[in-house]
Amino acid sequence: MSAWQVRRPGPIGTGPLEWLRRQVPEPGAGELLVRVSACAVCRTDLHVCEGDLPVHRPLVVPGHEVVGVVAGLGSGVSGYAVGERVGIAWLRHTCGACRYCRRGDENLCPQSTYTGWDADGGYAEYATVAADFAYRLPEGYSDAELAPLLCAGIIGYRALRRAELPPGGRLGVYGFGASAHLATQLALAEGATVHVLTRSAAARRLALDLGVASAGGADDAPPEPLDSAILFAPAGELVPVALAALDRGGTLAIAGIHLTDIPVLDYQRHLFQERSVRSVTANTRVDGREFLDFAGRHRLRVSVTGYPLAAADRALRDLAADRVNGAAVLLTT
Ligand SMILES: [Zn+2]
Ligand SMILES: [Zn+2]
Repeated sequence: MSAWQVRRPGPIGTGPLEWLRRQVPEPGAGELLVRVSACAVCRTDLHVCEGDLPVHRPLVVPGHEVVGVVAGLGSGVSGYAVGERVGIAWLRHTCGACRYCRRGDENLCPQSTYTGWDADGGYAEYATVAADFAYRLPEGYSDAELAPLLCAGIIGYRALRRAELPPGGRLGVYGFGASAHLATQLALAEGATVHVLTRSAAARRLALDLGVASAGGADDAPPEPLDSAILFAPAGELVPVALAALDRGGTLAIAGIHLTDIPVLDYQRHLFQERSVRSVTANTRVDGREFLDFAGRHRLRVSVTGYPLAAADRALRDLAADRVNGAAVLLTT
């Protein structure tokens, strides 16, 4: 099969990825072999390629927002059939036994592993996944539209929950890429007033088109205090900006896996009056199922820019330069 692997992690302009022929993987016990039709490009893939995240598997195939059809079954798999459409996401394995797994926080499992980091992912024509960690996908969407739901969508869902937006509340969204544009639609569907703050003019237009109340620059103050905010941009300098925009008792959730340094905070301006700041760490399978269920009931508008699989390096360069509106998706056909 054709696939991309991370040969030499470094800045995306230096060509960390290599396009080559590899063996089609064998599904292990309990695993599905999936013929990939679409794989969305996540900022985390960029962090894996650029070495912001340490190497977990040398020569890994990136990609963890994978849509395809089941092409083979490992031993002991039940409940899936060849030809069925399935999704592969970031969370790949958890131990099921630690204190975090037992209390429903499997996203915090110290034994957790991740697709496209610890194991080969979807920048390839075939990929494998444990049947227990595969997702069934809602009807009414193309494969390209479904792919970004599998990380951007699920993480946006968890970030919105972690932001503890009260019913009918005022939400600030900092950065407006793939995850933010999906979380915004969720929040709007649930009755929130949403203010988007982002440096990209094209993203501001998309946000207004989706029905947000206002769209301003990343450093602008929103037109009213916020009950909750989500920081999607990987920019630590926006943490004090977003905290200062919160109303008393407000919550800021930081959605990214990687963030540049946070400047010194001023306790009075940024934290006092019971403002909170919290991170978002991956997601549980329950988050994934809840979000995909929501996507089946509410038709989300998924803004997609398609690239051939062979152009994954170009898609990543475009993502690094903020040239992608919505989600970049690699297509195998
Ligand atoms: Zn565990
Ligand atoms: Zn991701």
